[in-house]
Amino acid sequence: MPEVTLTRITLTFDNGPEPLVTPSVLDCLARHKIQATFFVMGRKVVTPEGPALVRRASAAGHWIGNHTFSHAAPLGRLDRAAALAEFEQAEQALSALNPAGFAQPHRLFRPPGSGQLGKHLLQPVIVEKLQEGRYTCVLWNSVPGDFRDPEGWLHRAIADCQSRDWTLLVLHDLPNGAMAHLDEFLSRMQASGYEFRQEFPPDCVPIVDGQVVLPLDPYWNG
Ligand SMILES: [Zn+2]
Repeated sequence: MPEVTLTRITLTFDNGPEPLVTPSVLDCLARHKIQATFFVMGRKVVTPEGPALVRRASAAGHWIGNHTFSHAAPLGRLDRAAALAEFEQAEQALSALNPAGFAQPHRLFRPPGSGQLGKHLLQPVIVEKLQEGRYTCVLWNSVPGDFRDPEGWLHRAIADCQSRDWTLLVLHDLPNGAMAHLDEFLSRMQASGYEFRQEFPPDCVPIVDGQVVLPLDPYWNG
């Protein structure tokens, strides 16, 4: 008998929370019984609507991660003090919301990348912070471009998922209309037998609980 290969997908939603989009993304994930991770921006967490949205996502079993405060630029392109402020202000926004920490197995961080992996993602002071704080640093292997192409991302996402055993998709809960297609995407992939996992593919996670487990050379000039 041929071996059955489970083909897996992990969903992440970056750059929110957004009051006009995040609730419908959460509704959609609940309908499909899928758990995901929301990499939130600190400056949106501290808006009047932000705390309730983050709490709702966490209460539904989704994981929450730091995605910097203002997402102004990849951290490797900022000076040391500015990079540190981006990281720490986002952390303060999240810990003010939930001083005891979120009910999830890892403290999560994702660096902004402008859609691309590369040496612009990290810098030494950020790696130190991730190690000290026992963070897990989550990268990705698919950016289908929902933020710039609200219609076409669906087909690129499907093609990406077909091209590898375990796809870690970066999507965005932003108000540009792209998430109107989330339900169709999830329905199609579930009907095709894909398995949605909340865990991350190990080759996308160079730092786990503060331990550097993959070479960082591709991600910094450290
Ligand atoms: Zn982002």
